[in-house]
Amino acid sequence: MENKKEMRQWLDNFGLDHPLVIAGPCSAETEDQVLKIAHELKDTDVTVYRAGIWKPRTRPGMFEGVGAIGLGWLKKVKEQTGLLTATEVANKDHVQLALENDVDILWIGARSTVSPFIMQEIADALEGTDKIVLVKNPVNPDLALWLGGVERLYTANIKKLGLIHRGFSTYEKSKYRNIPEWQIAIEVKNKFPDLPMICDPSHIGGKRDLIFDISQSALDLNFDGLMIETHWDPDNAWSDAAQQVTPKRLIEIMRDLKVRKITTEEQAYQNELSVLRSQIDVADQNLLDVLGKRMKVAEQIGALKRANNVAVLQNKRWNEILGSMILEGQDRGLSEEFILRVFKAIHQESINKQEKILKA
Ligand code: PEP
Ligand code: MN
Repeated sequence: MENKKEMRQWLDNFGLDHPLVIAGPCSAETEDQVLKIAHELKDTDVTVYRAGIWKPRTRPGMFEGVGAIGLGWLKKVKEQTGLLTATEVANKDHVQLALENDVDILWIGARSTVSPFIMQEIADALEGTDKIVLVKNPVNPDLALWLGGVERLYTANIKKLGLIHRGFSTYEKSKYRNIPEWQIAIEVKNKFPDLPMICDPSHIGGKRDLIFDISQSALDLNFDGLMIETHWDPDNAWSDAAQQVTPKRLIEIMRDLKVRKITTEEQAYQNELSVLRSQIDVADQNLLDVLGKRMKVAEQIGALKRANNVAVLQNKRWNEILGSMILEGQDRGLSEEFILRVFKAIHQESINKQEKILKA
């Protein structure tokens, strides 16, 4: 893609000396609530005020947003505080109304990014706009859907684009509401290096206690900004109560977060880094050697199974391996989640190799 640089120029134009901070309530509830929070965020590092007006709810009967009336409240926020405004758009009517009412930033929610039909409808409605458009990742961990959404907007000639990482839903039990799967965000960053990547720790965490830690992880990975749901009375918010923080807490979070330099030319740092990196290179070579050897043994077992007409998958043996590797991993400071991922991948490769032999 050409002109990619243009797509992030909008962020550089803000000239911020800190990550972009977007804050405000999950939902606009009343005019008073919207303005009260905005005034508490004025004169802080917050640049953009967010508030959902049309709320995509998983189940009907929950608060579905105040609708178009909230656009007037956002206008007042801009007039009274100078903050830029942002809201979610999920169809062409939302887009039209948001553009008419001069909302500065339109974001596309996770439930829209999953649907190519909706993405195309939104892209068509936004065609050629010079507003900033941010694309949240799809609800499910599908890299192609996220990339596809961005490509549709790019094709619609939208020049100020950005991404929001809000985590992915999962059946697995997790402390997160939506697991971060940072590697997917990193892959998207690699595909679109010029697009700003903003982290939404509120929807990743689902609980306000997790927000600081997730935000720091995002900054450690060089994210360009944060979107943090903020409410003057979080416990009584009409949506996402558990994950919202007060403006006071947001200010503390912004104060305590450490912004990392991308790198430094400092000599002592560079020297130590290159020593450590050569150790990593050696360790990676060793890993490859060991994996290669392990697969050779797996192939020998495959040949033995073939000669004796025995099935490839031996569940009991596999569960024993997994159980003992989790325990041994713990002794080496390796998390259960990591061990499971690594050994599942190794096991799958062994099965593939053995199957080839059995089918030969
Ligand atoms: C939101 O930002 O309030 C929202 C609905 O987010 P998501 O699309 O990430 O669920
Ligand atoms: Mn929310």
